[in-house]
Amino acid sequence: MHACDEAFSPNVPDAARRVIEALEGAGHEAWIVGGWVRDALRGAASHDVDVTTSAPWPETARALHAVGMAVYETGTAHGTVTAVCAGEAVEVTTYRVETGYSDHRHPDEVRFVKDVREDLARRDLTINAMAWHPTRGLLDPFGGRDDLVQGIVRAVGDPAVRFDEDALRVLRTVRFAVRFGFAVERQTHEALLDKLYLLREVAQERIGQEVNAIVCGGKAGTALLAYPEVMCAAIPELTAARGFDQRSVYHIYDVYEHIAHVCNACEAFTAGQATAALRWAALLHDVAKPSTYSEDVDGHGHFFDHPRQGAHMARAILRRMAIPSEVADAACLLIRWHDEPMPATAPAVRRLLRRFSQACPGREVPLAFNLFDLRRADAVSKCPSAAPWAHHMDAYASILRSEIERGLVFGTRQLAVSGSDVMRALNIAPGPAVGMQMEVLLQVVMAGEVPNERDELLAWLGAMP
Ligand code: ATP
Ligand code: MG
Repeated sequence: MHACDEAFSPNVPDAARRVIEALEGAGHEAWIVGGWVRDALRGAASHDVDVTTSAPWPETARALHAVGMAVYETGTAHGTVTAVCAGEAVEVTTYRVETGYSDHRHPDEVRFVKDVREDLARRDLTINAMAWHPTRGLLDPFGGRDDLVQGIVRAVGDPAVRFDEDALRVLRTVRFAVRFGFAVERQTHEALLDKLYLLREVAQERIGQEVNAIVCGGKAGTALLAYPEVMCAAIPELTAARGFDQRSVYHIYDVYEHIAHVCNACEAFTAGQATAALRWAALLHDVAKPSTYSEDVDGHGHFFDHPRQGAHMARAILRRMAIPSEVADAACLLIRWHDEPMPATAPAVRRLLRRFSQACPGREVPLAFNLFDLRRADAVSKCPSAAPWAHHMDAYASILRSEIERGLVFGTRQLAVSGSDVMRALNIAPGPAVGMQMEVLLQVVMAGEVPNERDELLAWLGAMP
């Protein structure tokens, strides 16, 4: 059971209260709606607050201007304006319904209506279709509060019709189920499987937004295991991994199950604080295993080059889903290096940082720690005898920590001498030779042959034949 406070009286944010007062003072009706109400009933904080009103948007704007609020026309085609009040933004949308959906993704028509209940009826899930008013209290025509208490995600109305209208709701249903640890109600679940194929019609950016919310909520592993059909419809490249036998003594799981366990282990190793890049890397790190599979004469499976090919596949997936490039670049880098043999030595760690600084300048240290977490998670998700490999990552991490203490050197920028020092010491003019000499110095410092100290480096240069 999921507790819900009987005497529900949430702290309405000041900005929303003032928006409602301004609208109702001007003769309209207004409610807080959607996620904020759901989260308040759960006793959780919400990141934003939406208000829905009977006022057409120009009248909303007029009423809010009249009380001195700044109003921005952020989506007037759908009846939405954004009010800013004491630094807080509140989205205010006219009661509306959506009809048509001939393409399963966009309503053919948005119609503004007079009754808030109609607006609630067009919302996706009962737990998202409640409204709250500071004096009138909770409006809950579809039993959203009961579903919250019972831990159930249920479509508003006939689930098959609702998924037909907008197939993205299939993915939203899974997102909310895994986010709260709820079960999907039986008919909603059946319809969800029946209507999966319609996800193909949904714009990739919208799919990306929902999948990203699942991944960045740390729930990709849960979603993969509980809703494999949905996850594979959202990312078709994962389909081949399902049931793919690795024919390896090091793997007790098929590729798909292994991926799910790695996602979960990344959360465990980071206490649920994994970065977006690590989470996406965990989800996609072995995506190229099925396509790179080969078998040796003894019948053992191999996946040569799967990290490199996986990084290519991940790049395409993340791009089409419009995942921000700083997340995508880092995720692809982690995928590329997740399986690389790496001796636990300072020079090897420095080489890694150098590679990382070329691909993601300035982010090499946190990304190296991300890589260690990914490799730990990978090790504990293979077979019991491979799990101790996770400890090897502790050795890399402690080398990296002591390198940080000693002052990291993995690029010429960090050398204790500059290009002009080199020119003076070798009596050479500006040109490519200076850069080459700096590279040579970097190599000897990274290899631990010369300490990164100005005098030592100049002496080494002076002694060069
Ligand atoms: P979150 O905390 O994840 O933002 P939220 O409930 O605010 O949760 P949003 O995606 O921001 O979720 O959507 C706001 C509200 O709009 C939802 O609560 C729901 O009522 C409605 N909604 C959003 N997308 C859809 C959709 N595709 N179909 C129907 N209703 C939707
Ligand atoms: Mg929201």
